[in-house]
Amino acid sequence: MYDINNIFAKILRKEIPCEKVYEDEFSLFFKDINPQAKIHILAIPKFKCTNFSDFLKNADNEKISSFFKSVQLVIDDLNIEENGYRLITNSGEDGGQEVPHFHIHILAGEKIGSLR
Ligand code: 5GP
Repeated sequence: MYDINNIFAKILRKEIPCEKVYEDEFSLFFKDINPQAKIHILAIPKFKCTNFSDFLKNADNEKISSFFKSVQLVIDDLNIEENGYRLITNSGEDGGQEVPHFHIHILAGEKIGSLR
């Protein structure tokens, strides 16, 4: 069940601010409030979904395709493809997910350590 009062839902409704990096009809990208690397961006679809599986199972192909293409667009804008980056999505309790709106972490700008 999607919690309409999760933090990212509030950011999407502009009830709380964010440092926006990119936005279009289907997605919003903003800086993580507690960055784990020099570049730490959160990518979220403008679709009520709790995690990756919920998004892939319930969003239509246009929304899914547009969202993932936007991830690449931001990677291009940030010019991080050559040096590299890490994409992470946490899901559920075992995955360590804190905010129950599907998001992808984009980490870059320095060597990202091994997975903890
Ligand atoms: P998760 O553990 O759910 O994959 O990651 C949630 C992320 O959201 C964390 O990295 C955390 O720092 C970030 N975060 C939590 N609350 C806020 C907020 O109000 N604003 C922003 N920009 N990031 C947040």
